[in-house]
Amino acid sequence: MLLVFGLKIRLTTVAPLVFFCPTCGGDRPGARRAARRWLTLFWVPVVPLGRAGEVVECETCHTRFDPTVADRPTTAHLASILDDAVRVLTAMVVASGDSQDPALRAAAVERVAPILAGYDDDTLSGDIEVLDPALAGSYVEPLAEGLEVTGKESLLADLVRVALAGVTVTPDQRRVIEAAGRGLGLTAAHITGVVTSTVAAHHPRPAPDPDSGPPAL
Ligand SMILES: [Zn+2]
Repeated sequence: MLLVFGLKIRLTTVAPLVFFCPTCGGDRPGARRAARRWLTLFWVPVVPLGRAGEVVECETCHTRFDPTVADRPTTAHLASILDDAVRVLTAMVVASGDSQDPALRAAAVERVAPILAGYDDDTLSGDIEVLDPALAGSYVEPLAEGLEVTGKESLLADLVRVALAGVTVTPDQRRVIEAAGRGLGLTAAHITGVVTSTVAAHHPRPAPDPDSGPPAL
């Protein structure tokens, strides 16, 4: 009798997880599954062979991905990282400017309070004490991949607006904003563009030079 041998890959579920499924375009339940080669006899797996790696499979669309897909933050996780980043960077902008300026502090509280219940001037003081503005870039690095470009731009533009509440963007504040932009994966030119256009939009057009007005009749 002729024996028909073959090889087959079988997947066993290792652990359930929630991940951002690139095919569905959203957070989905899925499973981390281990692949193993089996020797088959008449198409029936009979002998387990070596491991053939792991995949992450989406429960909704059943697409299988390289396990690194699970390293990408979920939308829910991303939103909480973004809220944290706004809080941290806003405090850094205050700390690297005139941190006693009431207008600057009020603008910072106004920016953060809607995303963090109970955030007030005292919370801001506490944040300023513990935060190191030199680390601005590292706080936003997790957002570099997941956040859309428009989200990155508005994050930076909001920081510029907070700084402008203290009249001008100081060089130290600008360093914080630039470090955040680099952490988000934006180019230096892109960051400069966002900062410049936000500053320009903030200041009303300068009054015309009286010497260049229309000639008197
Ligand atoms: Zn999916």
